[in-house]
Amino acid sequence: MLNFEQADRVKNLPPYLFARIEKLIAEKREEGIDVISLGIGDPDMPTPEHIVEELKEQAEKTENHQYPSSVGMLSYRQAVADFYKKRFGVELDPKSEVVTLIGSKEGIGHISWCYLNPGDVVLVPDPGYPVYSGGAILAGAKPYAVTLKEENGFKPNYADIPTDVAKKAKMMFINYPNNPTGAVADMKLFEETVAFAKENNILVCHDNAYSEIAFDGYRPPSFLEAKGAKEVGIEFGSVSKPYNMTGWRIGWAAGHPEVVDALGRLKSNVDSGQFQAIQYAAIKGLTGPQDALKKNVDTYDERRQVVVDGLKSLGWNIESPKATFYVWVQVPKGFTSASFAEYVIDKTGVVITPGSGYGESGEGYFRISLTIPKERLQEAFDRMKNSLGKLEF
Ligand SMILES: *Cc1c(COP(=O)(O)O)cnc(C)c1O
Repeated sequence: MLNFEQADRVKNLPPYLFARIEKLIAEKREEGIDVISLGIGDPDMPTPEHIVEELKEQAEKTENHQYPSSVGMLSYRQAVADFYKKRFGVELDPKSEVVTLIGSKEGIGHISWCYLNPGDVVLVPDPGYPVYSGGAILAGAKPYAVTLKEENGFKPNYADIPTDVAKKAKMMFINYPNNPTGAVADMKLFEETVAFAKENNILVCHDNAYSEIAFDGYRPPSFLEAKGAKEVGIEFGSVSKPYNMTGWRIGWAAGHPEVVDALGRLKSNVDSGQFQAIQYAAIKGLTGPQDALKKNVDTYDERRQVVVDGLKSLGWNIESPKATFYVWVQVPKGFTSASFAEYVIDKTGVVITPGSGYGESGEGYFRISLTIPKERLQEAFDRMKNSLGKLEF
């Protein structure tokens, strides 16, 4: 009898949050219910046409059919550097300070392999994107949850982190605009982060996946704009969310050249880079006309209004998030995150994401995504109004 025992690093992984949700959805659909999922954050609008056209053109060319460079084409890295200059006023050397990723998730997962040995401590935001701790666990490291409290605008308070933990930590993740809370950060937080990192010798990994999805004229900054940021860290970025390219798998890491080099060397051992036609298409996204992005943001903005109005009509007292396509909401009295999500799907066929899937401190919250059409969002709220009964807050 063969016995394939999984490695501890895989056994220790928490179950992937969306897998559970997908199972719940499947069960309801089997019962014949028209499920409306407000659960998954994945743009529903198409990739802009000029980007798709570039892919088609480049896909025809034989020279794009071979292995690409694992760190990416220089022209793609140049396009990222040009984007940083134009958008954030940040200078980057495309040769040494930018590495191409197969989606920023890939780099977020792999950076732990570059800097963490078994038992090392990494600071992860809680609630937070599950890949920060997932990558760290795969590297055998120990994630330490940094609680993001609502009363602190879902920002870390570095003074709350015990000194021995801060001293031991080798790396930390931060993420603004923030998934799942929709919170935003100002330069002050980034400057505090640089100071905290310098004091404790910690590598900062900032995830800026939502820099282009913001409302009311707000323009999210880059961590690399903060003085000294490039000495202590890197930033992850992606074309996925601004250009509706989540399925294409292309992003970047930019910043400290040694860190960029380490990621590139690791990647040369596990992958061979992204299809060049996709890199060309992403260049078009970053450097081409931005009207499709503007239209995207306007669409999310309208949906945001539907959600905020819908929640208010159900009795919630809620402020509109300034960025991301998420609305993060406290569960009503008498519910946990999981019990409320179950109650809502049971009564209405509407799927919301329980906040507890984003870490212990997500307990007591749920997340709504703005990645479905306004009419469906409205329908979801109509159902909730009709079927949820009186909620207490
Ligand atoms: C969507 C998302 C990403 C990953 O995007 P890629 O498609 O892998 O580039 C990274 N971080 C956060 C917080 C996200 O929500």
